[in-house]
Amino acid sequence: MKKVIIIGGGMTGLAAAYTLEEKARGKVDYLLIEQENRLGGKIHTAKEDGFVLEGGPDCFLSEKPQVAQLSEKLGIEDRLLPSHEASKGSSVFTGGRLHKLPEGLMLMVPTKIMPFAFSSLISWPGKIRMAMDLFIPRRKGNQDESLGSFVTRRLGREALDKIAEPLIGGIHSGDPEQMSLKASFPRFLQMEEKYGSLIRAMLSARKNAPSRPQPTPGKVEKTYFMSFKGGMGELIETVVDRLDKSKLLLGQTVTGVKKREDGKYFVFIQGQDPLEADAIIVATPANVAADILREVDDIITGKLQEIPYVSSATVSLAYRRTDVKTDLNSFGFVIPRKENRKIMAVTYSSTKWHKHRTPNDEYVLVRAFVGGPGNQELVTIDDEKMLKMVQSEVKEIMGIDAKPVRTKIFRWVKGMPQYTMGHLERMEEVEKQLSKYPGLYIVGGSYRGVGISNCIGEGSGAAEKALAYLA
Ligand SMILES: Cc1cc2nc3c(=O)[nH]c(=O)nc-3n(C[C@H](O)[C@H](O)[C@H](O)COP(=O)(O)OP(=O)(O)OC[C@H]3O[C@@H](n4cnc5c(N)ncnc54)[C@H](O)[C@@H]3O)c2cc1C
Repeated sequence: MKKVIIIGGGMTGLAAAYTLEEKARGKVDYLLIEQENRLGGKIHTAKEDGFVLEGGPDCFLSEKPQVAQLSEKLGIEDRLLPSHEASKGSSVFTGGRLHKLPEGLMLMVPTKIMPFAFSSLISWPGKIRMAMDLFIPRRKGNQDESLGSFVTRRLGREALDKIAEPLIGGIHSGDPEQMSLKASFPRFLQMEEKYGSLIRAMLSARKNAPSRPQPTPGKVEKTYFMSFKGGMGELIETVVDRLDKSKLLLGQTVTGVKKREDGKYFVFIQGQDPLEADAIIVATPANVAADILREVDDIITGKLQEIPYVSSATVSLAYRRTDVKTDLNSFGFVIPRKENRKIMAVTYSSTKWHKHRTPNDEYVLVRAFVGGPGNQELVTIDDEKMLKMVQSEVKEIMGIDAKPVRTKIFRWVKGMPQYTMGHLERMEEVEKQLSKYPGLYIVGGSYRGVGISNCIGEGSGAAEKALAYLA
């Protein structure tokens, strides 16, 4: 039987394995090799005494269909968890206090005049500058532009510093001045092209948005951010549950791949004999893929090495509700880099995921983000220092002085790929070179979208291509 080897057992590799299991059981064999002793990669949920502690992603965006579709196939739609809309909204910490993001702000664009006009977040000159988006002509030409340059050009510097950088850049833990708009947020470019103004585009989107459907009895309500009742790890556990365990090789590090004369591939694993495969799906981060593929093609390796990474850590803190006097009735807050704080953002997890993140209402759970482009060295400080630092920030910003009853730290060294200027051109070069190696696929969050939905799409897409090739 022909064999596909999948390297990497994060969401992307698992989606590939699930597709092969579903569509080619008994026809095409597969083996998934993962270096850790657990599967899921950056999706890592710890469940401790009734607390659901997310290490990496805490949600997916429902506007992309892949997670919902996969949940349906797996029969776990009833486990989906909408965010708690009654507490929707976030703040920005600037100038020593928290400012609510004005109602009607879509992504970073104001669409309601009054809440925006009365917002304390942006100064009057800043607001007038943002409104000028309505009159600024479209940019000519098709060359790539950084997110920072785009936002400054359309909405002004204050909108970049106080809204776009912490909110939009934060999705990638990235530096907006380095991030490629085309690769990271192509939607903004399309809006400018079509409407000549982000405000007009968002107003139109709001006008044409289907009204929020009334929840159907027995169906889970669909909100913009969605998770699972048991955390994002529930998706991983269910996918793994459906795979043939004899096809999962854990705790083994792939060190390289070689193409053979006859078109097959050798996969090298540390301390073991090489394995043979007819097709290979490389679903590791790009920096690892670069190394694994160094003997296949040095142009591919070179291009993949150009994708930089940023490190971050998440620190969950659970408190007794009676110890917290702070208003936690929102999804949390973000902090602009200019504020020079030690944390980037805090999510109020027990509010956002009402009743599903703590053992009962006696506790609250918050999650702080450390690191990012300006503070990467903080990610590797020891646990004691990290907790002291985060607690001190939480005290200064949120006024929580109490001792947490539980803490959990997850570190993601080089965890966030950066789609910097020229990213799409780099990807095109990689694709061009890859066409010389039929049966070899490189997929994952490092390339065409960091979201979990993209990863599922990429992994299952590669499996489909491998099946078509092997047929
Ligand atoms: C802190 C944080 C928060 C995030 N929040 C969100 C969010 O809210 N929503 C969202 O949609 N996305 C979010 N993301 C992004 C999302 O989690 C990732 O893009 C996605 O999980 C990547 O999946 P992947 O399978 O491509 O890669 P990974 O999850 O990195 O998996 C790659 C796997 O390859 C394995 N591997 C590496 N080298 C080797 C080797 N040599 N041999 C064998 N195996 C190897 C690794 O151990 C790992 O298991 C977040 C990411 C981080 C870090």
